[in-house]
Amino acid sequence: LADVAAHQAKEDGRGVYRFAGHEKNQVAQERLMLGSALRDALAKGLLNLHYQPQVETMTGGLYGVEALSRWHHPKLGNIYPSRFIAVAEETGQIEAIGRWSLQEACQQMVKWDKAGMHVPTVSVNLSAVHFRNRALPEFIANLLAHHNLTPDRLTVEITESVMMDGSGDTEDVLHAIRKLEVGLSMDDFGTGYSSLSRLTRLPLSEIKIDRSFINDFEHDANAQAVTMAVIGIGSRLGLTVVTEGVETVQQHRLLEKLHCDVMQGYLFAKPLPPAELENWFRTGQERGSFITPAAGKQG
Ligand code: C2E
Ligand code: MG
Ligand code: MG
Ligand code: MG
Repeated sequence: LADVAAHQAKEDGRGVYRFAGHEKNQVAQERLMLGSALRDALAKGLLNLHYQPQVETMTGGLYGVEALSRWHHPKLGNIYPSRFIAVAEETGQIEAIGRWSLQEACQQMVKWDKAGMHVPTVSVNLSAVHFRNRALPEFIANLLAHHNLTPDRLTVEITESVMMDGSGDTEDVLHAIRKLEVGLSMDDFGTGYSSLSRLTRLPLSEIKIDRSFINDFEHDANAQAVTMAVIGIGSRLGLTVVTEGVETVQQHRLLEKLHCDVMQGYLFAKPLPPAELENWFRTGQERGSFITPAAGKQG
């Protein structure tokens, strides 16, 4: 119901929201409220990016960081992307958020470069709607040129839902982005509907195994078998395999055994504001590894 209402509101455009008859319920109202608060937050620059490090399993080196949107509302407090990204998609604001996060992430990379902190690549999450826009590759190319960043410094994360709309435009846009030599990562891999044959057709550079697979990893032989198989397929396809949501030393050990290339999760660091990431980076640099002693010790 909320989806119908929000869809209607979106189609109406120009900030005039019309609802089909009596279908105006609390959920829809909350979404509308959040939608206009979000518009306000975007205009006032109240969205932030936090960055979560990704570490190389074998070397303990920094592979990159993932940029994750954060919204601190003066009255409602912290609003998480699980809540506001859907609203942004329904109220037609997701493209603006995507452009903003690409810009913000590139700007941050330049700042870190100047400060002598080398982050190899920053990953930005984009929603399905972005890839229906044929102007996206050029937007990205211009952005990189403007910031004087080589394309390998940026990775775009897509989800399997991107492929679900089946439009030819989407595949073209993905190929054009990859042609720029920007990284292209399949996020939350294993949770969607994409077939393996489609996976081989996409110009990916990376897959991220969804954290649901490693949640009960330690006790679930089936989850382990699937993860092992996915890591195997990914590496044979020449893709970098990242596992997200790594929280325990046991998971780390197992991923090491399975030759997973890159790990990301609370075990290493939560998504952090830039200043805190800088501290985390300096500490790791002094230690000579970005894998924490607790994670590196046992086993
Ligand atoms: P995602 O891209 O799969 O990001 C990973 C999510 O898992 C993040 O949640 C991160 O904070 C969380 N996470 C990381 N490590 C751990 C861990 O060890 N344990 C647990 N339990 N969680 C962990 P977050 O930041 O709330 O973002 C949720 C989702 O919202 C993201 O999932 C992404 O799909 C979407 N999102 C975030 N920012 C943006 C954005 O700027 N644009 C778009 N389109 N989507 C975004
Ligand atoms: Mg992601
Ligand atoms: Mg993910
Ligand atoms: Mg996820």
